[in-house]
Order: sequence, then structure tokens, then C-alpha cells
Amino acid sequence: MDERVSKVLVVGAGPVGAVCALALQQQGIAARVLEAQPEDARADTRTLALSHGSRLILERLGVWAQLDDVTPITRIHISQRGALGVARLSADEVNVPALGYVLPYAALTVALKQTLADAHIAVDYGMAVERIESGTDAATLQVADGRSYAAPLVVVADGGRGKSDPVPKFERDYDQMAVVCEVQTELPHANQAYERFTPEGPAALLPKGDRYALVWTARREDAERIAKLADTEFLAALYRHFGGRQGLFLQAGPRKTFPLKLAYTGSEAADRVVRIGNAAQTLHPVAGQGFNIGLRDAWELASLSGDTAPEALGSAAMLAAYARGRRLDVLGGVGFTDFLVRVFSNDIVPLRHARGLGLLALEVFPPLKAFVARRMIFGARG
Ligand SMILES: Cc1cc2nc3c(=O)[nH]c(=O)nc-3n(C[C@H](O)[C@H](O)[C@H](O)COP(=O)(O)OP(=O)(O)OC[C@H]3O[C@@H](n4cnc5c(N)ncnc54)[C@H](O)[C@@H]3O)c2cc1C
Repeated sequence: MDERVSKVLVVGAGPVGAVCALALQQQGIAARVLEAQPEDARADTRTLALSHGSRLILERLGVWAQLDDVTPITRIHISQRGALGVARLSADEVNVPALGYVLPYAALTVALKQTLADAHIAVDYGMAVERIESGTDAATLQVADGRSYAAPLVVVADGGRGKSDPVPKFERDYDQMAVVCEVQTELPHANQAYERFTPEGPAALLPKGDRYALVWTARREDAERIAKLADTEFLAALYRHFGGRQGLFLQAGPRKTFPLKLAYTGSEAADRVVRIGNAAQTLHPVAGQGFNIGLRDAWELASLSGDTAPEALGSAAMLAAYARGRRLDVLGGVGFTDFLVRVFSNDIVPLRHARGLGLLALEVFPPLKAFVARRMIFGARG
């Protein structure tokens, strides 16, 4: 059998797997990455919202300097349709240059690919991992062409899309889908993002270049119909749904839909195997938490690996310490996101009033505002 042995194997060269490999190298630990897609595969068109904390991670890895398609969010406007209560957050109030950054997934993928190549990190493209066998001293990966790879630590960052993924410990189907596309509004965005809660689900407008990236959450049975509306009907429906804070919606790009759910699998998998990023937790995008938690997973795992004696890398004690260290941040993000979706996606009158009061409190009570903003930027330890 042709078996290659490495110190750390990373399954998946998505943003979380790539960041993990780069951060491990900064800790002096060589990683090998296996990616199912071919090297020249075109990344899809999704848009990502990065927190300021994620920017700091990408800066330390030399990735941020390579990104040129980034739009800062300096203000966020939060409201609910058909009820009182508005909250506004601004970067100045939290003393950060921006509350977040919007960029195409494809741009981040290209920058990460280049940084991995510059750092001479081995990435085997077109290698879909079929099976992971865990053992006492090492875990072994079987890939489709019959080759196998072994390492004392295997990091699964396959986005939760692997063939042998375990059943999540906790799942919630929100019966919602996201309709995403770019839209042009009558008024310039001036780097302001919007989060508007409606009984059918939240709608977000994220400044992207000279346009907005729209994430319109709808009930599953409505989403496909909305996505297929002709442009003029779509723009009119969006105006009715979102309101006129940005003037008219003038133009919309091609629409896509994606399912929204909560799936919490956790980092613990088997001996010598750890799960990070979307492979460990897939979140609703309402609070922009999922992707940023994934980057913190990668960063914290690499830091802990650097602090672990080489012979203990991937040991049960190390993986348990990692799970313990991540619990507060991950479960905090999962709970906060789930709370927002469930409390805001309905039209129950007492809840509507309570939400209005909550938004008012956020608006007028600066310490609460700073508390919420810092947790959204830096996670539970913010
Ligand atoms: C359709 C879709 C749309 C989304 N849109 C948004 C959005 O608009 N805004 C937002 O903030 N977030 C969005 N998200 C979430 C965001 O994309 C994720 O949080 C983020 O990509 C997670 O990064 P990751 O590296 O963990 O996983 P991924 O980005 O999914 O990367 C996983 C990588 O692993 C590879 N892989 C999978 N299986 C294997 C295998 N068996 N062997 C080897 N490699 C494998 C994949 O090819 C991929 O490169 C979206 C997610 C999806 C699925």
C-alpha cells in the first residue's frame, strides 16, 4: 500500500482548512492538505461577511494583504418590519476601524491558495477523502484512487459535506432558505449594512463594492418562487419586504438559494481526529457567526498544537483540551444565532413588543451596545 505519513493532515482546503494549515506552519508544524476539488475549480459565488477579529487572524497569516476586493462595514442598522425598535451600531463606538468586511468567497479562496503555495504547504487537489480510520497512534485517510495517508492528527475541515460525516449531535431545520444575489439601490450604501427582521425570517443587505449583497431569508416553499421572479417583480417584492431606507432597488443580479439549518456535530470525532469549521457547526447566517467561529477554530487548534509536546500531538488529552477551550465560544455563537432566528422569525404580539424593547435598549444603552458588538466581532472572549 502506498501510504504517506505527515504530522498533520487537513481534509478540505476551504477557508477554514487553509487557515488551519497556515497557522500550523506558523507554529512550526508541517501540515498536508487534501482537497476534493481540482486545482483549477471555480469557487462559487457566495459572499462572506468577516468580523474584525477574523481580519486580525488573516493579517497575522499574511492573507489579508493579498485581498483587494473587500468592502468594510462601518455601521449596522437593525430593525423589525411592522413594529417599533431600531438599533444602530457603529465602528467608532467600539473603537475598531470596521465592524466587519464583505468579500467574495472566491477572492478569499484565491488569496488563500496563493498564500499556501508561497508557504510551500503541500496541497493535494482532486483528492476526495472517502474514509477515515482512527487508531491509537495515528488516523488513516483513504482517498478515492486507493491511496492512503496517515498522521497522528487529522483535522476534518470538509464543510460538513464529507461522505463519512457523523450524525450531528443537534440539528434544527428552520424551514427557511436564503435567496442571495447582488442588488443596486438608489442611494449609495456609505458602508452601512442592514439587518431587518420579518416574520418570515431576517433580510440582510451587506455593502459589497458599489452594490449590496442581499441575503433574503424566506420560508422554504416561498424561496424558490422568489428567486425565480423576473427582475422587475423581484425588485418590487424586495422593496415591499425590506422598505425604502435605501431608496428604490434598481437592479438585481442572478439569484441563488441555499438551505438554512443548524447542525452541531462538535469537534470530537474519534481518536486522532478533530472537526473544525462548518464540519463541526453549521449555523444560520443571520448573525454572521458561523464562518468567523470556523476561523477561530482553526486558529485556536493551531495555537494549541504549537503549545503541545510533539509526541502528544493529536492525543486524546490534546483533543479534549481543544474541545474544552472552544466550548464557550462555539456554543455561545450557536445559542445566540438560534435565539435570534427563533425569537425574531414570528409575528407573536408579545414577542414583537419584547423585540422592540430589546432593540431600543440596544440603541440607548451604550455598554450593552459595546457588549453585543464585541461578541459579534471577537466571539465569546471579546
Ligand atoms: C451554498 C452555501 C452558501 C453560503 N453562503 C454564505 C453567505 O452568503 N454568507 C456567509 O457568511 N456564509 C455563507 N455560507 C457559509 C460559509 O460558506 C461557510 O461558513 C464557510 O465556507 C465554512 O468554511 P469551511 O472551510 O468550514 O467549509 P467550506 O467552505 O465548505 O470548505 C470545505 C472544503 O472541503 C472540501 N471537501 C469536502 N469534502 C471533502 C472530502 N471528502 N475530501 C477532501 N475535501 C473535501 C470542499 O471541496 C471545500 O473546499 C454558505 C454556505 C453554503 C454551503
